[in-house]
Amino acid sequence: MDLKSLIRDIPDFPKSGILFRDITTLLRDPNGLRYTIDFLTQKCTDSGLKVDYVIGIESRGFIIGSPLAYKLGAGFIPVRKKGKLPAAVYSVEYELEYGTDCLEVHQDALQLTSRVLIVDDLIATGGTAKATAELVQNIGCELVGFGFIIELRDLQGRKHLPDVPIISLLEY
Ligand code: AMP
Repeated sequence: MDLKSLIRDIPDFPKSGILFRDITTLLRDPNGLRYTIDFLTQKCTDSGLKVDYVIGIESRGFIIGSPLAYKLGAGFIPVRKKGKLPAAVYSVEYELEYGTDCLEVHQDALQLTSRVLIVDDLIATGGTAKATAELVQNIGCELVGFGFIIELRDLQGRKHLPDVPIISLLEY
């Protein structure tokens, strides 16, 4: 199935010079949505990944991560922007182009023995995924891999990630 044909390119969003890869057009397509989740699930199982929890990064990582967790027989854990999670959290700060941002996870969501897969819709520079990896690795649990629908190859985001399987369905 030609998934790329279902992804909409929006130039200069959210700011000048960014070519935004809009997956809402993929998500609204019943066959596209099913194929995407099935394909990602297949790649995870083919890689032999044993996953207790899928960690979805706010917000498009939630959309992909929840059905993937369901298919893998795993639980789902949200990693959210600062101040959104109601119970006690662990936080990690990371650098943006201008300034810093902060991601959080519930303190009681993960145990030392947990095997986790980090999921987002897209990897660009890798900063967001790297920070999420630090968050879970600081807790001490086992990071088994990363899953993305889209990888922007030229930005070489995967170079910044720990040495675990990095699964992406489409490259640009
Ligand atoms: P990065 O931390 O640079 O890897 O950026 C990844 C995050 O930013 C993901 O949550 C993406 O959803 C979003 N993002 C970055 N670049 C794009 C893009 N060109 N199109 C759509 N989303 C993007």
